[in-house]
Amino acid sequence: MNLFRMHILIPVDDEAILAGVFDVKRELESEIRRRGMDSEIKILETGTVGATGKGVVLIVYPDNIYYYNVRREDVALIIEEHVVKGRLVKSIAHEAGNDLKHGHKAFHQVGLTRKQPRVILDKCCMVDTYNIEEVISYGGYQALEKIISEKITPAQIIDTVKQSGLRGRGGAGFPTGLKWSFTAQAPGEVKYVICNADEGEPGTFKDRLILEGDPHKLVEAMIITGYAVGARKGYIYIRGEYELSIERTQRAIDDAMAQGLLGDRILGSDISFHLEIKKGAGAYVCGEETALIESLEGDRGNPRVKPPYPASKGLWQKPTLVNNVETLANVPHIISNGAEWYRKMGTEKCPGTKVFTILGHVEYPGLIEVEMGTPLREIIYNYGGGVKDGKRFKAALVGGAAGVFLPDRLLDVRMDFESLKEDAAVLGSGAILVMNEDASIPEMLHSVLEFFAHESCGQCSPCRIGTKQLLNMIEDFRAGEGAESQLDAMIRMSETMYQTSLCPLGQSLIMPVKSALENFREEFPAKYKTKAESAIDRRKK
Ligand code: SF4
Repeated sequence: MNLFRMHILIPVDDEAILAGVFDVKRELESEIRRRGMDSEIKILETGTVGATGKGVVLIVYPDNIYYYNVRREDVALIIEEHVVKGRLVKSIAHEAGNDLKHGHKAFHQVGLTRKQPRVILDKCCMVDTYNIEEVISYGGYQALEKIISEKITPAQIIDTVKQSGLRGRGGAGFPTGLKWSFTAQAPGEVKYVICNADEGEPGTFKDRLILEGDPHKLVEAMIITGYAVGARKGYIYIRGEYELSIERTQRAIDDAMAQGLLGDRILGSDISFHLEIKKGAGAYVCGEETALIESLEGDRGNPRVKPPYPASKGLWQKPTLVNNVETLANVPHIISNGAEWYRKMGTEKCPGTKVFTILGHVEYPGLIEVEMGTPLREIIYNYGGGVKDGKRFKAALVGGAAGVFLPDRLLDVRMDFESLKEDAAVLGSGAILVMNEDASIPEMLHSVLEFFAHESCGQCSPCRIGTKQLLNMIEDFRAGEGAESQLDAMIRMSETMYQTSLCPLGQSLIMPVKSALENFREEFPAKYKTKAESAIDRRKK
């Protein structure tokens, strides 16, 4: 076996692709070949590093140095200076002042990734996802092997998941083990497991990056889940435009099949499971589990009236379990390490970690994994590096587009299902959008309402009409025709939608509407300034 002196990792995600990561990779390969260093330096393509706005990233091990915004023309310099002479290329290293000789700050000590308890993201940007042997050597498929070798029964798996306290990360926070037990107990020989990887909210991309960073973890989790609930077939429903997710997941499925980790009689056991990817057409409403099932069956993605719930009548009227990517990604860790280990992280009622996307006016936007219950302030100021350019914090839209506008007095709220509920807020899609003192809450609310008016499937009247009416009302304020009484009408409208809409799309608008109008009412005069008008004003100053 060849022992390489150095590894150069190249995280590939959509941002890196747009920034020319494959050009950089080709240049790197040819430079190493040209210098005859092929047997010394190994180049690995990995999943995302998690930091956005950093272009192409190269990570050099064992030095643990991160180079950001790397261009093709930087490659020769990195090889000559760092690889050959052992000197840091400070101009593009992660933090100025890092020094190879006197101890640089490792990536996990700075910025967004500062001391993150990475469980779900443990292999993201660390492992070549195209190399199943490497994934296995980093602990991949260990939980599945444990189940097979220790003859763990489906009931024991469900019990362990229940004991762990894992709650669904799709937004509602329903206890996962309990949900599994409904499908397991449902009568019927044919059952299905579906992974919901249809992440369609603006600013939300955690599941996509979890999947791209570690697709084998999801494959392993789906096999375990299928075995636990009695399903032999699973589907991963991914947005059609997420090409990298689809490519990496398909490759993981194919490689697992080739290794006997998927298919009939897995590793010679009695467990059989087959997995298939289904591409979604990109409708936000298909994130709702029954709409997703309709879409998967080939129909228009309209939510079904419940009950019956998918646990008894789901895909093709068979008992079906739907979990999202992040929920499932917890499963191999819980099985490998036990429920007690899992409960040591997070809070009593919400154990484990939580993956967020943090965006907007912060120094280090990107993907972050923290323990459940971490205060919002810590996420923004410690991991996110604080509000960009030294500006003051105004608000954070927490939980995605259907989330809540939290003002600065709620900065210390703990980010878990129970604590947020006390402030009428939600974890939602796991997106945190930070807004500085210049941000316009009405403009942000306008964007939210525009999005939902566009995405309403139109099946039920409260949502079909309500989303349009809400948009019309806020546009009155944009046009200088807003009236104070309309603000109360907007709240009443969203309350009616909450009570009468068929699915969470129409039900959840109450959160952004109410929180924006109650916490920032003074920002809604008869005519508020649009984003463009505010920018012109700022330039004039
Ligand atoms: Fe469709 Fe909206 Fe009704 Fe949901 S609430 S079924 S998205 S119209």
